[in-house]
Amino acid sequence: MTTNSKLVLASANPGKIKELQQMLDELGLEVIPQTALNIPDIEETGLTFVENSILKARNAAALSNLPAIADDSGLEVDYLKGAPGIYSARFAGADATDTDNRKKLLDLLAGVPAEQRTARYQTVVVYMRHANDPTPIICQGTWEGTIASDEKGDGGFGYDPLFQVTETNCRAAELDKQTKNRLSHRGKAMANLMLQLQHQ
Ligand code: IMP
Repeated sequence: MTTNSKLVLASANPGKIKELQQMLDELGLEVIPQTALNIPDIEETGLTFVENSILKARNAAALSNLPAIADDSGLEVDYLKGAPGIYSARFAGADATDTDNRKKLLDLLAGVPAEQRTARYQTVVVYMRHANDPTPIICQGTWEGTIASDEKGDGGFGYDPLFQVTETNCRAAELDKQTKNRLSHRGKAMANLMLQLQHQ
């Protein structure tokens, strides 16, 4: 891949688009969010992050005729046996907002002691050269933390005001963008993807 290559980013989540675009911009890649090409979201019918990210990347590549990157991510809470997992965006219902999802999580964890509130963000990032690419590049990233019982910070998105980051001992929503990109599940997966793209 050369610099100034174009690729489409298969996400309609403004928080994620911002984070991914920032990381890809640094590498001189021209990133076009699928929303700018009027590409609609595809239904996430997979049962794993891998399946869903491939579905999203394939859809974006097919409708744009460009290489595509997609991620599928979510929060795994140990006390909830890995929930909300792949259902993180729709935890409190199909049209749930981030606030609704955080409230549901806090309600389910009410009274659960701090040491049992361990959790992690997971992501799978996929790069497909074209819609029929039989060997997509698949990179995974994980970010460990715990779920606090109150909200702090106004950065990030999703569960970030509740996600107490183990390394920095503060909420993900309190980190500046560069620090979040360096430490996060998506940052790690993207760093790995960039290394692999450089070898192509
Ligand atoms: P997806 O768009 O289907 O991958 O859903 C991802 C969902 O997981 C988001 O809507 C958030 O609820 C949650 N999530 C993923 N990554 C993050 C993050 O970095 N911060 C906060 N929430 C996240």
